[in-house]
Amino acid sequence: MAPTTQTQDAPLQPTTTTPQTPQLTESSPAAAAPTQGGASEKEAKEQKAFERWTKTLSLITGIGLSKEEFQTEINKIDRKQCELRKEQLIKTSPGVRFMMNNLVKSGCPLTKNMLECGPCDNTKSGGFSKDHGILLCQNGFFSKKHQEHTMIHEMIHMYDHCVFNLDWDNLRHHACSEIRAAALSGDCNWTREVRRGHYTFTKQHQECVKRRAAISVAGNPKCPSRDAAEKAVNAVFESCYNDTRPFDEFY
Ligand SMILES: [Zn+2]
Repeated sequence: MAPTTQTQDAPLQPTTTTPQTPQLTESSPAAAAPTQGGASEKEAKEQKAFERWTKTLSLITGIGLSKEEFQTEINKIDRKQCELRKEQLIKTSPGVRFMMNNLVKSGCPLTKNMLECGPCDNTKSGGFSKDHGILLCQNGFFSKKHQEHTMIHEMIHMYDHCVFNLDWDNLRHHACSEIRAAALSGDCNWTREVRRGHYTFTKQHQECVKRRAAISVAGNPKCPSRDAAEKAVNAVFESCYNDTRPFDEFY
């Protein structure tokens, strides 16, 4: 990723789509195909159904598809789901709609083609680029809620870039936006924390925000170490955590 313009955000539970290849032993419907002469319409229909069936089975088992073919099919399925959820969330998610409205008000409207679903490596869930808009990692979401939080998270980066004219090479600037994005997007809400096993009774929200912000800042090409990322986060934490614009409070 190009330096200075990108932020990338880690998913909470990376998903994998490695094909499994168990031995398939059951007989196929082809064995039961009628053998009388004259290819009837019924036979043609059955053949089609069989092809659909074997394709579905191939996807489940990985048998009969090359690694590339398998990945292409998985990418298609992931993209379709990501695009569908994106459309639904734009219509129904209060947080997504609120951020979209505020981006319009700030003079940086987010058009649909700036909100792109695409495959990423398994450590990412989304990213913002000032030149290209928002990437949604179609293979990085473990739920619709996770996609919703990622959309809001990246829109907060976009908002910050628009309103505060951030310098993404400056670790404190980057840290500030990551703190706000983690705090305001729902990334650190209670159920997500419990699922990650990081739940502690006091200050869990702040701790979660700090930890997630530091992980993201550590991914900045200008950041020399995790330690430097944590220092940048701590230096700006109070003021950025308490700056909830454009929200009135935590979402
Ligand atoms: Zn981020």
